[in-house]
Amino acid sequence: MKKAIFWDLLGTLGGDSRTLINQEFTFFEEAIPALKKATTHGYLNIIVTNQSHIGHGRITIEEYERALSQLLQQLADNGVQITDVYTCPHTRQEACICKKPKPFLVKEALKKYELESSQCYIIGDSGTNDVMLAHQLQLKSILVLTGEGIRSLTDQRNAWSETSPTHIAENSLDAINKIIGFQIIEQ
Ligand SMILES: [Mg+2]
Ligand SMILES: [Zn+2]
Repeated sequence: MKKAIFWDLLGTLGGDSRTLINQEFTFFEEAIPALKKATTHGYLNIIVTNQSHIGHGRITIEEYERALSQLLQQLADNGVQITDVYTCPHTRQEACICKKPKPFLVKEALKKYELESSQCYIIGDSGTNDVMLAHQLQLKSILVLTGEGIRSLTDQRNAWSETSPTHIAENSLDAINKIIGFQIIEQ
């Protein structure tokens, strides 16, 4: 049985909504241990990220791909395995089919990697994007309190009031620890 963690990138694993444009992205210190721990416990790491800066012309697709490949190299150098990265480059105005919270990209990944959806989690810092996406696919979700997480639970909470995250975690590592804790309980 194959299972995956669908990771949000910005605000969840590192950086913020500006950092890929100005090339200042850094991983949060708990991100690398979190990604490694996911692999150790049998999860594929799949990143799903909205990058509307590309659609807005603030960063070109080539610049984005270069920045992304540097990040992936940095992870690989630290022994982290990332199975795939799915990017939506569009602006909201383009009304594309792939921008989170639309489930298109995650659906594609579920099919491509033959994942057991009941065993997968979406981990992100945005209620409106990440938790709403999980809600639509009936996947489990963990909202992290890094990035936009606290704002998601306060100022922005009414924008995704129809659902709740399965769990709330301090950060990416706490999220993985919670998931692993549940596995042990379920066994
Ligand atoms: Mg985010
Ligand atoms: Zn898109």
